[in-house]
Amino acid sequence: MHMTEKKKQLFGTNGVRGIVGELITPELVMKIGMAVGTMRPGTIAVGMDTRTSGPALINAMKAGLMATGCDVIDCGILPTPALQYIVMNRYDAGVVITASHNPGAYNGVKVIEKDGTEMDDDGSIEIEERVFSYNFDLKEWKDVGVVIPEGDLVQKYVKGVVSKVPTNIGEGMKVVIDPGCGAAYRTTAEILQSIGCQVFTLNAYPDGNFPARDPEPSVEGLAPLADMVVGTGAAFGVAHDGDADRAVFIDDKGRFVEENKEFALIAEYMCSQRKGILVTPVSTSRLIETVVSPYGCTVDYTAVGSIYVARRMRALLAEGKPVSFGGEGNGGLIYPDHQFCRDGGMTAAMMVTLLTSKKQPLSSLVDALPPSIMLKHKFHTGNAEKILAAVQEKFSSDSLNLVDGIRIDRKDAWALIRPSGTEPLVRLYVESPEQVTAKAFEQEILSCISSFI
Ligand code: MG
Repeated sequence: MHMTEKKKQLFGTNGVRGIVGELITPELVMKIGMAVGTMRPGTIAVGMDTRTSGPALINAMKAGLMATGCDVIDCGILPTPALQYIVMNRYDAGVVITASHNPGAYNGVKVIEKDGTEMDDDGSIEIEERVFSYNFDLKEWKDVGVVIPEGDLVQKYVKGVVSKVPTNIGEGMKVVIDPGCGAAYRTTAEILQSIGCQVFTLNAYPDGNFPARDPEPSVEGLAPLADMVVGTGAAFGVAHDGDADRAVFIDDKGRFVEENKEFALIAEYMCSQRKGILVTPVSTSRLIETVVSPYGCTVDYTAVGSIYVARRMRALLAEGKPVSFGGEGNGGLIYPDHQFCRDGGMTAAMMVTLLTSKKQPLSSLVDALPPSIMLKHKFHTGNAEKILAAVQEKFSSDSLNLVDGIRIDRKDAWALIRPSGTEPLVRLYVESPEQVTAKAFEQEILSCISSFI
């Protein structure tokens, strides 16, 4: 765990998030707005996902920003990556009111820096300190900010994504899109139509009650999408979480594509185009390493959280090192030629590009991936430190990565033991191509930590 992460009280890995009317109130959001406006004075772009609490909270955010002298560009409903794209090199900062994949009762705040990346831990801690001590640079009457009307900025994002793939690359391809009544209803269909696809949609309207499915895309929630893919004879179905920084897929046979497999397929394609470093958290399947290494690409493991991946990609590039790709094993993929954040619309466009280039159905590509057995456990325990100490001692002769929890890498298997940053629980992942090897390694770790769980 990062030392700074321990100090954060409101901010988690991806911004502030909680239940509306409990943690998340207009008062808190306005204070965060006053803190952001104090720290990043200038012109700030704001936007939100489709949640029912969005309008109340975004107005509180705008009030806080304007009270500290900032001018505000209100982009309305849009995916988080669209706001990031709009902010990048255009405005002084951005704020999205979203709770990503959480249910409708939740909402939250993500703060975006001038360069389009999410604010880092030091910035988040400064916001908290200012909120807790009511330390804001409030302006007098002559200097408060205004809302600046702008045209449809979301179009800039759609065009930006389309410009990153070959013209009409999807010509003749049938696809089905399920935004789950979230923010992608405004963007993904248009992106895929613009590159030539024949697009069918479901749940492609904004509704913060999320009547069709949870904002978190799951096998059960995407069953209607799977039926529609098979029924229309589409090449694939794509679904997003509430703020569309992630994309998950249904193959042409109507099967849910596990997100690490999706990552492996797109990573293989990206690394075949450009040799370099792939950046991903320690929790990602080794499948990625297996498929990209034949192209001479290496994997750089970071702490868990897309912000650490994005910032590591930028740091490597700043050092003059080649970076091929980045992402997480949850459908959140980062395209360094496009922008340094997860982008679900870009991932949908890249799947079209991949399938056109491979000339094979998605189901065949998934089935051709190397085997992988991933075992997962969650232990509710306050003994995280004792568990880590015991594991570090017992496996001291193995190759250990301590960037976030303990990752043990062996030739035929790997494991991660990682305490949660926000709750008293410890997660264990074990993966191997062979079920027996995974089980044996799992047993070895469980016997080491059993007295603490
Ligand atoms: Mg999200």
